[in-house]
Amino acid sequence: MKRTTPIDTIMIHCTATPPRREVSVAELNRWHEAARFEPYVDPKTGIKTYAGYHLLVHLDGSYERIRPDDQRGQHCPQSNMNNRAVSICYVGGVDNNNKPCDTRTEAQKRTLLTLVRTMRGRYPKAQIVGHRDYAPKACPSFDAKKEYSAI
Ligand SMILES: [Zn+2]
Repeated sequence: MKRTTPIDTIMIHCTATPPRREVSVAELNRWHEAARFEPYVDPKTGIKTYAGYHLLVHLDGSYERIRPDDQRGQHCPQSNMNNRAVSICYVGGVDNNNKPCDTRTEAQKRTLLTLVRTMRGRYPKAQIVGHRDYAPKACPSFDAKKEYSAI
């Protein structure tokens, strides 16, 4: 579904998976379909994408586009964020006991920084926040607001 408000937020998430455990878009699709997230339907192919983020950053620092920016995500219902925010998710975010933990690899940190800068260039007035700034959660297991405050 298309957004009905301009993007004013860049929101960082994690997959809440342990160190060295990769997550594919296909797997995210299964999780988010099971959670009954509203899918993005590709107008050309009719293919439904349930994964709710816009971008996914893998352990090796590569990333995948999941939803176009002009489409609503499904990642934070609070404060109308699905309509307002573009979302970037990194793979990881908990330790081996499922406790919140900043597990980002150096490659993920570099890619996240590049993507946040790119988004900030595209949406100069957008605030940069973590999911936890809008919901009672630990996600993304680091202080995104602070880390990206100079961008
Ligand atoms: Zn999140």
